[in-house]
Amino acid sequence: MQYDDVASELQDVLLTEKQLQARLTEMAAQIDADYAGKDLLLVGVLRGAIMVMADLSRKLRTRVEMDWMAVSSYGSGTKSSGVVRILKDLDTDLTGRNVLIVEDIIDSGLTLSWLAANLRSRGAASVEIATMLRKPEAAKVEVDVKYVGFDIPKAFVVGYGLDYAERYRNLPFIGTLAPHVYS
Ligand code: 5GP
Repeated sequence: MQYDDVASELQDVLLTEKQLQARLTEMAAQIDADYAGKDLLLVGVLRGAIMVMADLSRKLRTRVEMDWMAVSSYGSGTKSSGVVRILKDLDTDLTGRNVLIVEDIIDSGLTLSWLAANLRSRGAASVEIATMLRKPEAAKVEVDVKYVGFDIPKAFVVGYGLDYAERYRNLPFIGTLAPHVYS
């Protein structure tokens, strides 16, 4: 899906496909350098992270395994509360593994902070976080994010894995929606 297919539903393009891919190439080079000679398990958080996982993993030269988790965070409306339920757990034993959690976006950071602690408690040798996008609120939570694609303003964004009512995930760029789409 491209811009023209949903042009009337979009307000702005925040990050183009080219910008996202260029930044992922840089992040992959950094991750390759940091994990040189080590094994690496990428843990994607469903469903938003599928695009980042697909593109980042293919840019890596490091040998990796991939696994997936699905979590739901209880909260009021669109705010996450930090209380998390695992909907789909990993199939991989984490004992002694170097884990890199791959995320689409960090907003409050509450879900991720819980997830990182949960994976650490399973005996992983290391647990780090890579995210394509980070919003300003994330700075308030004690969550150490090692690889950040872009810091973005506090706006609701769609595309590149991120949805509004399950739509727009298959846009190759990040954009904001026109107000009439919400109403
Ligand atoms: P938090 O960091 O607040 O615990 O939750 C992060 C999750 O909220 C993300 O994984 C994503 O599913 C959702 N989220 C946060 N901000 C946005 C946004 O701007 N757009 C979309 N589509 N989802 C978002």
